[in-house]
Amino acid sequence: MTTAKHYDLIIVGGGTAGFAAALTANKLQARTLMVNDNAVGFAGTCVNVGCVPTKHLLYVGELVHKITKHNFEGLTSSITFDFSTVMEEKDKLVETLRSKDQLTFEGYSHIDFVAGTATFISKAEVQVAGDRFIANRFIIATGSSANTPLIEGLNKVKYLTNVEALQLKKLPASMIIVGGGALGIEFAQMFSRFGTKVYVLQRADRIIPREESELANLLMLYLQDEGIEIYTKADVNSVKQEGSEKVVTAIIDGKERSWRAEELLIATGRRPNTAKLGLEKLGVALGRKGEIIVNNEMQAAAHVWAAGDVTGEPMLETVAAKEGAIAGTNALAKNGNTERMDYSIVPHAVFTDPQLAGVGLTDEQACERGVQCRYATVSMEHVTKAKLIKDTRGAIKVVIDEETQRIIGVHLLAPQGADLLHEGLMVVRNKMTVDEVAETRHIFPTLSEVTKKAAQALKWDVATMHSCSE
Ligand SMILES: Cc1cc2nc3c(=O)[nH]c(=O)nc-3n(C[C@H](O)[C@H](O)[C@H](O)COP(=O)(O)OP(=O)(O)OC[C@H]3O[C@@H](n4cnc5c(N)ncnc54)[C@H](O)[C@@H]3O)c2cc1C
Repeated sequence: MTTAKHYDLIIVGGGTAGFAAALTANKLQARTLMVNDNAVGFAGTCVNVGCVPTKHLLYVGELVHKITKHNFEGLTSSITFDFSTVMEEKDKLVETLRSKDQLTFEGYSHIDFVAGTATFISKAEVQVAGDRFIANRFIIATGSSANTPLIEGLNKVKYLTNVEALQLKKLPASMIIVGGGALGIEFAQMFSRFGTKVYVLQRADRIIPREESELANLLMLYLQDEGIEIYTKADVNSVKQEGSEKVVTAIIDGKERSWRAEELLIATGRRPNTAKLGLEKLGVALGRKGEIIVNNEMQAAAHVWAAGDVTGEPMLETVAAKEGAIAGTNALAKNGNTERMDYSIVPHAVFTDPQLAGVGLTDEQACERGVQCRYATVSMEHVTKAKLIKDTRGAIKVVIDEETQRIIGVHLLAPQGADLLHEGLMVVRNKMTVDEVAETRHIFPTLSEVTKKAAQALKWDVATMHSCSE
C-alpha cells in the first residue's frame, strides 16, 4: 500500500451533489479530492441513466404519438420508427453532455479526481483500490440505486432497472413494470409509445402517490386510453421465467392473477448507496431506508457532511445540486458562516405527456396541516390555446390559504406542464394573492393562461366567461 495523500476535503461520489460540492470547494480554494466509481458513468445518474436519457426518449415517444395519433383532419402521416437508431442517438446525446461535464471538471484547479470505489478504513481515511487518502472533512454523495423488492423468484430472473432499460438494443414486444411511481410511469409511456405492450402493476391504490391525487387519477385515464394496462392494489408475490417470457403473479383484491411479457422492469423506488462504504467508522446515523441522516446544514457527524440521493427524499437533481453546494460551503466554513437547506418550495414533475407537475401544498396536505384552505380545479378545456391545438387533456388545481388569500399550492396536468408550472412556482415562492394572479395580464392565447383562469375560478365561474375576457 502506498503512502496516504492528504487533502482538506474528500468528496465520495461524483454525481450532481458531488459536482456541486466540488465546484464550491474549488471556489473556496480548498485542496479537494473527488472519488467516483463511474459505475453509472462520469457525472452520475442524471446525465447517464436518469433525467437526460429518459426525458430525451420520452420526447421521441411524444413525437411518435403526435405524428401518428393527432386529430387534425387535413393531415395524414405515417412514420418509420427505428428503435436501435433512437437508442444510438440517445447515447450520443449522453456522451456529449458527459464530455462537457468532464471538460468543466478539468477546469477545477483545486480538485483532484480518482476513479474507483471508496471505502472508509478509519475516521479520517478512505481507500480506493490500493491507495489511501486522508482528510479532516468528508462529503458523502454516493447517490442511490434501484431498490430490489422482496419478491419470490426475482433473484432467478433477468430483470431490468432504469440502467438496463436504457441499454436495450431491441424493442421488447411486451413489458411488465412493477411500480407505478414517477419512474415506472415514465418508462411505461415511453415504451408503450415506442410500440411495446405495457402492463403496470402498482401496489398502492393509485399511480404516483406522491403527486396530487385528482390529477394523478386523470393521468391514469389518459395512459389507459393509450393502451397501457395499469393495475392498482396489485401485491406482486412471485416472478418466474417460462421459455422466453417472464411470468409475474400478483394478488388484487384477494384474487391471484398472472401476466406474461418479454421483459420485466422493476421500478419500486430508490435505495441510498450507503452499504459497503464503511460508514460505521465515521459515526454517522442511518435512517430506515439506509439514508444518511443529516441536519439542515447537511451535516451527518462532526467532520462529515452528506448530500443528494444518499440522504433520502426528495431525490431530485435540483435538490442534490443545492444540497451539494450547501455541504461544500458548510464543510469548509470558517467562523461558523454556515448555510441551511430549505425544502419548503421544491417543484417536481412527472414527464409523461401530459406532464404532471406541482409546487407547494395540495388541498389534502393543507387540510392535514390545519390550514383553512379553498381550491379551484380548472380543466384545460377552458384554455383557448388548448382548444386551438386540439389538446385539452389535463387540469390545474390552485390552493389558497383562506385567511390570507395567498396561493399556497399549484398542481397541474397539461402538455409541457413542467414548463408551465414555473409561473406557479414564482407565485407560491413570492406568496402572491389570488387577486394579484387573477388580475395579471397574460399573453393570449397561451397555455400559461391556465394559472390565471384558476385564480379567477376562485372568484368567478370561468365556465361562463368569454375566452377573451380579462
Ligand atoms: C430514471 C431516472 C430519471 C430521473 N429523472 C429525473 C428528472 O427528470 N428530474 C430530476 O430532478 N431528477 C430526476 N432523477 C433523479 C436524479 O437523477 C437524482 O436525484 C440525482 O442524479 C442524484 O444525484 P446524486 O449526486 O445524489 O447521485 P448520483 O448522480 O447517483 O451520483 C453518485 C455517484 O457516486 C458514485 N458512487 C457510489 N458509491 C461510491 C463509492 N463507494 N465510491 C465512489 N463512488 C461511488 C456513483 O457511481 C455515482 O457516480 C431521475 C432518476 C432516475 C433514476
